[in-house]
Order: sequence, then C-alpha cells, then structure tokens
Amino acid sequence: MVVGEPLSRRCSLRIGGEAAYWIEAGTRKDLEALLEALGETDACYVGLGSDVLFPDEGIDVPVIKLVGELAEWDVEEDGSQTARVDVAAGAVNAHLVRGLLKDGWVGAEFLTLIPGTFGGAVALNAGTKEQELCSILETAVVAIVDHKNACWRIERRSSEELEMRYRHTALPEGALVVGGTIRVQRGDVAAARERVAADKQRRNQTQPYRLASVGSTFANPEGDYAGRLIDEAGLKGASIGGARISELHANFFINEEDATAEDFLRLMALARYRVRRDFGVQLRPEVRFVGFDGMQRLAEYERQLENADD
Ligand SMILES: Cc1cc2nc3c(=O)[nH]c(=O)nc-3n(C[C@H](O)[C@H](O)[C@H](O)COP(=O)(O)OP(=O)(O)OC[C@H]3O[C@@H](n4cnc5c(N)ncnc54)[C@H](O)[C@@H]3O)c2cc1C
Repeated sequence: MVVGEPLSRRCSLRIGGEAAYWIEAGTRKDLEALLEALGETDACYVGLGSDVLFPDEGIDVPVIKLVGELAEWDVEEDGSQTARVDVAAGAVNAHLVRGLLKDGWVGAEFLTLIPGTFGGAVALNAGTKEQELCSILETAVVAIVDHKNACWRIERRSSEELEMRYRHTALPEGALVVGGTIRVQRGDVAAARERVAADKQRRNQTQPYRLASVGSTFANPEGDYAGRLIDEAGLKGASIGGARISELHANFFINEEDATAEDFLRLMALARYRVRRDFGVQLRPEVRFVGFDGMQRLAEYERQLENADD
C-alpha cells in the first residue's frame, strides 16, 4: 500500500490529487484479505485510468488496482476451432489481444484500440463503432458487498444479467470486477494483425490519440455524434485553464497544460450547456468521475452558465 499516491500519475488525463491509500492486489489471497479488511468501507477501483477524472482534492477512501496474478488469462480450448478465455480484470487489453493472436486466436482485436484493462472494459462495456465487449463476453466475475451479512460475495453473472448496452453495464453499487470469460476462435491471424494496424493508423489520423485525454468525453446521443454537436456549437479549440477541446476531434478534451479537474469540469459544463441550448440534446458523460460527485459539480457550473446567459 502507498500512502499519498499522486493520482495524476495513474490516469491518461494526468489530473488528480493524492490517493490517501493506493492499494495494488496481486494475488487471489491478497484480494481475499483485502476484501475482508475492507468490510463495508467504501473503496474506488481503477484500471489503467483511461476513462477517469479524479478530483483535485484527492481521494480519502482506498483506491484499488488489480495487478500480477489478477492481470493474467488462461485459454481453455473447447473444440478445435473455439476457446473460452478466463481473463482476470487487471489484464491490459492490448497485452491480452497480443497474447491471443500469438497463439492463433482471433475475435478480440477491437480491444487493442481501447486503452485500458479488462475490468475497466467490463465496467463500461467498452467498444468501438464495430464491436462492443458484450459481443464476446459470456460471464463476469464480480465481488459484491453483502451488507446484510457484512461480508463480500464473489458471483458470476452473465452479460445478459449485466444488461450491457452502449457504454453501460449494470454492476451492483460498489461491485469490483474480478474477471470474466470471453469467447474467441481460430482464424486468420495475419489478416487480424493487418486490420489492427489499419485501425490504429486511421485513429491516429482522426483523433489526438497520443495526447492526455479520456478518449470520448461524452457518449454519442442516439443517432448522432457528440463530437459533431460540440463542433457545430462552435467549441472546437475552446479552452478553460489548461483544458482544451481538440481541434482534431471535438469530443476529445485535452489536458494541454497542467489542467485541473475543475478546468476539465467547467469545459464539460460549457459543452453540455451550449449543445443543450443550441440543439436541445443533453450529452451524457462517458468519462467516469471517481472518488467524487462530478455530476453535481457539472450541474452547478451549468447553472452558472445559464444565469450568465439570462
Ligand atoms: C486515446 C483514448 C481512446 C479511447 N478509445 C476508446 C474507445 O474506442 N472505446 C471505448 O469504449 N473507450 C475508449 N477510451 C476510454 C477507455 O480506454 C475505456 O473506457 C477503457 O475501457 C477504460 O479502462 P480502464 O482500465 O482504463 O478503466 P479506468 O479508466 O481505470 O476506469 C473506468 C471506470 O471503470 C471502473 N473500473 C475499472 N476497473 C474496475 C474493476 N476491476 N471493477 C469495477 N470497476 C472498475 C472505474 O472505477 C471507473 O469508473 C479511450 C481512451 C483514450 C485515452
């Protein structure tokens, strides 16, 4: 456990104060001991931190990351052409796909475009335009607090039970994803690698993929694109403090120069307010606020903008 870990080092946005307690669990035994010690104490979970905004004031409940044994996977062939893969939540998507392709398994390549861990992908039903995690996920293993008996239960839930849809998974409050199973097939590995390389190249041309961001800040509204609406609202390139809306892709908000969480939230509020005012569309954040009530602060900044416009 690290006391006072800077959270800005633990996320792609490079924003956030300190975690009072940063805990990495690397074995099943560690995890069991940790859950027992936690009891009903609140905790936060983080994978690679590619889709989180941490607060400037830091987080005083334990922040937990799964590593080591809890980031591995195991392939179980269930026929000559298919396999079920047991993936631990801490596994990094890109490592998983690379390992599967090396052993001749295809079907999970879309995950290489999604910087993050398997646990983060389950929690958000991460995906691309073409494919979402729920298309290959059979079951997820989750640790859930049983408040009645003051203990943790580990349960396996099917993807249907988790009601996975676009960037949404119905996880019980406070649940920790421990792992899950996906299904892959034997296939043309060379063609799969070529597809991955082409997709990466396309992304690099259309998105500021290497700058400090969370990818898409807002989920796309039904039948439209958040980036198009923010662009049409005239906000491409707009900045508040050190945070800027990318010129290349208006749904990417960049930490350009020592942005604070407040800069980022104010910029989000500006985009939400202007898109609602100009097009009557309410944008839903895709970024997750971890360790604080970001929705409440967002609403407060939006109210301030509304009052200033009256
Ligand atoms: C350049 C860039 C491009 C991106 N492109 C895409 C894309 O194409 N598609 C897409 O879907 N996303 C995309 N993202 C967002 C991000 O990569 C995904 O959401 C990814 O799944 C986040 O995984 P993570 O491990 O980093 O999760 P984190 O960011 O660490 O966490 C995200 C949320 O999941 C929760 N969480 C994490 N691990 C667990 C766990 N084990 N148990 C319970 N809850 C957990 C966290 O508490 C938090 O609420 C992009 C991000 C960047 C920076």
